[in-house]
Amino acid sequence: MTATAPREEQLWFRCAGCASLLYRKRLRRNLDVCPECGEHARLGAPERLRQLVDPGSLRLLPDRLPEADPLDFVDVLPYPHRLTGARAGTGLAEGVVCATATIGGHPVTLAVMDFRFLGGSLGCAVGELITRAAERALDDRTPLVLVTASGGARMQEGALSLMQMATVSQAIAALREAGLLSVSVLTDPTYGGVAASFATNTDLVLAESGARMGFAGPRVIRQITGRALPEGFQTADFLLRHGQVDMVVQRRSLRGRLVALLAATRAGRPTPPPVPRQEPAARHERLADDGAAVTRPAVEGAGGTPTPGDTSAVRDAWDTVRMARHPGRPTTLDYLDSVFDGFVELHGDRLGADCPAIVGGLARLAGRHVMVIGHQKGHTTAELVARNFGMASPAGHRKALRLMRLAARLGLPVVTLVDTPGADPGVSAEEQGQAAAIAENILTLTVLPTPVLTVITGEGGSGGALALAVADRVLMLENAVYSVISPEGCAAILWPDRSAAPQAARALRLTAPDLCRLGVVDEIVSEPSSAAHDDPAETAHRLRAALLANLLPLLDVPPAMLVRLRRQRFRRFGGANRAGAGVGRR
Ligand SMILES: [Zn+2]
Repeated sequence: MTATAPREEQLWFRCAGCASLLYRKRLRRNLDVCPECGEHARLGAPERLRQLVDPGSLRLLPDRLPEADPLDFVDVLPYPHRLTGARAGTGLAEGVVCATATIGGHPVTLAVMDFRFLGGSLGCAVGELITRAAERALDDRTPLVLVTASGGARMQEGALSLMQMATVSQAIAALREAGLLSVSVLTDPTYGGVAASFATNTDLVLAESGARMGFAGPRVIRQITGRALPEGFQTADFLLRHGQVDMVVQRRSLRGRLVALLAATRAGRPTPPPVPRQEPAARHERLADDGAAVTRPAVEGAGGTPTPGDTSAVRDAWDTVRMARHPGRPTTLDYLDSVFDGFVELHGDRLGADCPAIVGGLARLAGRHVMVIGHQKGHTTAELVARNFGMASPAGHRKALRLMRLAARLGLPVVTLVDTPGADPGVSAEEQGQAAAIAENILTLTVLPTPVLTVITGEGGSGGALALAVADRVLMLENAVYSVISPEGCAAILWPDRSAAPQAARALRLTAPDLCRLGVVDEIVSEPSSAAHDDPAETAHRLRAALLANLLPLLDVPPAMLVRLRRQRFRRFGGANRAGAGVGRR
């Protein structure tokens, strides 16, 4: 390396499409689109904003949040070192830049992600900043424009980063309720937790030419299916062909297209009445007190909160992962038989399929009617294969969505049982819109006007788990795990190889006691001294008691208040709300 290398990099740029060496100024004049082959180079957030908004209209929103490393995460580098490096490399405080501006004279609020910052990953700070931008849009009654570029949730913040999918989604839901337009512009690449939440549950989804979007990344899908991927898989044109985006737009047309959409959607609406404001972040503590009756069930002694001497406190996280995956562990159908009565299974998404990895239907819990929805694995290889190992397809998520909405219409509480390695990472799942299917479930649960109670019974794998777990109360069996990524997947990315999975399992804080401490889980349901699979009857007995203890207090809460409290529950995971988590960076 010579001292001139960076300077030359600034002057010249090699096109990723045709390998032409391009003069950087010429490239920039052409909006970073190769004049030779039309390849759209990736843009940082500041340049993207410059291209989209009216000159002189940009007002940046605050971008600083308290420093946070909620898990004390260390892989081969401590997480704070990675953050420092990303800040130095980009000049940004975080992986998103939020602003108000006008586009063609139309006032908007924008949140623009920057892939250069730790792969545009969605951590607590990014989620908090986008949520605040959405809340600002609600306050100002402007449309919200999101420009996404992300590899997915930020592993170094574990399940807390997963929670951001719900936090931002419920802010999008509030815009829907207020009749305010939300638009996402997918840019290359948009994957994982971002794809499966606010990138696809907005009103309009535009894909920039050359953008790729999907729930699972191509490498993961190739690895799991062992098949070559179809030509053009997950590209903007693929997404358009499969009905997942409204349009594909060349970069040079993007601003004009946004102006036209903003004009059209504004013209259609008479001046709306002001909408009562959702509670903003700063008021959590008081509201948490208000919600005490709900967050702390009055019924004592059921289910079993862990005692200090609990074995789970000392069991290694990797052992817990293996326990959670034990083939003998009771499944959702086992619990439907042992915990509930009179289960009547309901099938189908009404769009052409019935996914065997999710079962759902009407049942009774101690005489009360409930809707139960859960992932279904199996005990034998044949059962596991028939159920796709509990990995739901988009049809499974749409079936779950249908049953949740049906429950709300009928005034029935929803009980979900989560046990999945993750959502189905296959080619056809991507073709059928896995990301959008998960995103819509998450958003719908944030507004569902009926009690929702979730139990993580085995594996709580990432977005596929969250699609059933945006609940008023989240319980977890003692030997279950809940994580933003599998330990093996995390090890493959952050460590030299997958054999570091046990270390990754520890770093991810995926056990029930850890997640209770982080506030992701409300209560642990203890298992018999050995484990659930050694004494399913006793496990069922404890689970039933815990379900009743947590469900009964929810039944007395009016639906509107339930929704309000549920939103507060998922609003508190942002970076700014962990008082004392750290001090300001600068
Ligand atoms: Zn080119």
